[in-house]
Amino acid sequence: MGRQPIWRRVDFMPQVNYFKPAGVPMAHLQEVRLSIEEAEAIRLKDIQGLEQNECAQKMRVSRPTFARILVSARQKMADALLNGKAIRIEGGNYEMAVRRFRCSNGHEWEVPFEVMINTPPEFCPTCNTKDIMALWPWRSGWGRAGQGRQYRGGRSW
Ligand SMILES: [Zn+2]
Repeated sequence: MGRQPIWRRVDFMPQVNYFKPAGVPMAHLQEVRLSIEEAEAIRLKDIQGLEQNECAQKMRVSRPTFARILVSARQKMADALLNGKAIRIEGGNYEMAVRRFRCSNGHEWEVPFEVMINTPPEFCPTCNTKDIMALWPWRSGWGRAGQGRQYRGGRSW
């Protein structure tokens, strides 16, 4: 597996992941990339108003690590707002707290992160079919959507 990234726990996936300032031609548009865990840090601290140690617990990181993620997130948002840059929210090292599945008969259910780690679902709990799939935002693999801490790379996932 090579290097082991540190996965941060995230409970929320933004529905809108691109913000563009009005009146800036695309050719001149610079982009700031906010990782999913940075967006989560902002959400917990600045929207939900939790204390830093609560935020750190929720994301399962140390308090200094949380503080670092938060500072980075705020700097990026400030840079975008004041310098007229677009913001793209994607990537990072994170793991969702819950993953949603659907079977071929249309039943949907959610599997908690902790359960999934130990016993990933093999069949639908309603109709027992084994024809199941994971739903957005997981594009491949399971539980670990965005990879790569490179904010500059052109990698898509
Ligand atoms: Zn089913």
